[in-house]
Amino acid sequence: MQSTNFDIAIIGAGAAGLHLALAIGKDPFFANKRILILDKSSKEENDRTWCFWEKGNGLWDHILLQKWSKGDFFSKDIAIPLELNPYQYKMIRSIDFYKFAKNEITTNPIFHWKKEEVISIQNGVSIHINSSENSYTAEYVFDSRIPEDFTQKKDKYTRILQHFKGWVIRSKEDFFDPERFTLMDFRLLWPNSTSFTYVLPLNKKEALVEFTLFSPSLLKDGDYEMMLQRYVTEILKLKDFEIIEHESGVIPMSDFPFEKYSAGKHSRIGTAGGWVKPSTGYSFKNCERNSKKIIKNVKEGKSANKGLISKKFRLYDSLLLDILNRQNEMGPRLFEIMYSKFPVQKIFSFLDDQTSFSEDLSIMIGFPQKPFLHSLIKHTTR
Ligand SMILES: Cc1cc2nc3c(=O)[nH]c(=O)nc-3n(C[C@H](O)[C@H](O)[C@H](O)COP(=O)(O)OP(=O)(O)OC[C@H]3O[C@@H](n4cnc5c(N)ncnc54)[C@H](O)[C@@H]3O)c2cc1C
Repeated sequence: MQSTNFDIAIIGAGAAGLHLALAIGKDPFFANKRILILDKSSKEENDRTWCFWEKGNGLWDHILLQKWSKGDFFSKDIAIPLELNPYQYKMIRSIDFYKFAKNEITTNPIFHWKKEEVISIQNGVSIHINSSENSYTAEYVFDSRIPEDFTQKKDKYTRILQHFKGWVIRSKEDFFDPERFTLMDFRLLWPNSTSFTYVLPLNKKEALVEFTLFSPSLLKDGDYEMMLQRYVTEILKLKDFEIIEHESGVIPMSDFPFEKYSAGKHSRIGTAGGWVKPSTGYSFKNCERNSKKIIKNVKEGKSANKGLISKKFRLYDSLLLDILNRQNEMGPRLFEIMYSKFPVQKIFSFLDDQTSFSEDLSIMIGFPQKPFLHSLIKHTTR
């Protein structure tokens, strides 16, 4: 019988688990280790599209669906062209990422991938994992399951949602410019909300168009569809098109301290580890960055999660989340200020938690001070 003891167990073969597994698979340090991957799903569906920005070439360029160096930001009053250089905005279909990762993992003998649901974990000298079918032990566990407290507990943390529906549409005639994408378009708003549409052209006839809100609660299903229909016909002024794919999603945007739910050698990863940037909902690139940091920490014998979350940027995120929670209608103006006052490169760097304190100050000074001060006072007394 095969041993059920592993050096590392990764629970969840989603964005975070697969990023971590791929990074482990490439590092000779782990060449003689036994790594278990457990996921309840077989990851055979295209269940999402990931976009992210990065400078120059990247690890996933060979599986990208599309990339852009130029884009646009629209508010009600202004149109801002975005020249992203040296950044590019990149798009991957999840199925292409899953296929690539699965192929790398299943051909590497250090990995043992099982389709099983994890039911519980007990921390000890080794960590015990109980799945729907088996029990395992592992020295390190990286866990994508979201802590129950996040969904159940009433606490002081802010929770809003990034929620969206999108269509891949196909026009009859050439209509889109595949060299240019729309990052955010606030010209069509759901009343009193932070809502916008983005457009990701795949070629001259096809584009993914998504209507998105950053807000405390979901809309009715038909409302997203109605807004998409209005955006395509009234803003894009495209009448003759067919819908060829649908996408929808809900991403938590929260300053909940996910990192506190990691203990000893049991670490939460991905959404469950707080890797979703609370103020933007992006996490794909964080999965790459944090996997690298985890591997470095493990190799140096440090706590696996050390240095993953920046307190400074978490504070900024908390303030913005609080404003969006209290005064959701302010979002469009705040994003307009951001993209009209600062070069997109500086914004990307800030949103990647890469700016210095003096750069942060130069950005923050451009925003209306009152709502941020209000949120800061609330934050420090909560
Ligand atoms: C539709 C959609 C679009 C998104 N688009 C973007 C984007 O463009 N850019 C971006 O940066 N971010 C995006 N995100 C946010 C974020 O990047 C993704 O949600 C990302 O997939 C999160 O990674 P994860 O590994 O934490 O979770 P997931 O990718 O959801 O993976 C979790 C895995 O754990 C497994 N699992 C859960 N519970 C158990 C259990 N008990 N036992 C075994 N397995 C279990 C699940 O089956 C799943 O495979 C998007 C999210 C959604 C939903």
